[in-house]
Amino acid sequence: MYCPFCSYADTRVLESRLTENSLRRRRECPECSNRFTTYETAVFHLTVTKKDGREEDFDIQKIYHSIAKACSKTDPATLMQLTKKIEQKILNKKNHPVKTTDIGRIVLSELKKHDKMAYLRYASVYKSIEDPLLLKKELKAIALG
Ligand SMILES: [Zn+2]
Repeated sequence: MYCPFCSYADTRVLESRLTENSLRRRRECPECSNRFTTYETAVFHLTVTKKDGREEDFDIQKIYHSIAKACSKTDPATLMQLTKKIEQKILNKKNHPVKTTDIGRIVLSELKKHDKMAYLRYASVYKSIEDPLLLKKELKAIALG
């Protein structure tokens, strides 16, 4: 890491701290003594295949917003946790690119564990349950449970 102040080729790490999404490092330049902070995050590129066959970059924000819409009563921290869990499942899928229908299925299975109503809302908004009979069955199961 080059010093942003003087371009010196080495910096000293004063402190490392693990945050939720990154590794935060407080650094000092041995040459000019200026201090600055760096954040280390994992970068990965994941492509998803849509129903019509087109490909697009995987965007975790989309997942977050779609589940936020379905889980109206859930606080942002819990939503973030849920999103991370879903993201991990998607990243760990063996076959890439991942199909959006597979992503929908992963989101549904996590929502089902989290909140039955949110699960149904998601399923109806995103038409993730394509079979109307299956949706009916799910609704009935929730009504009974
Ligand atoms: Zn420097």
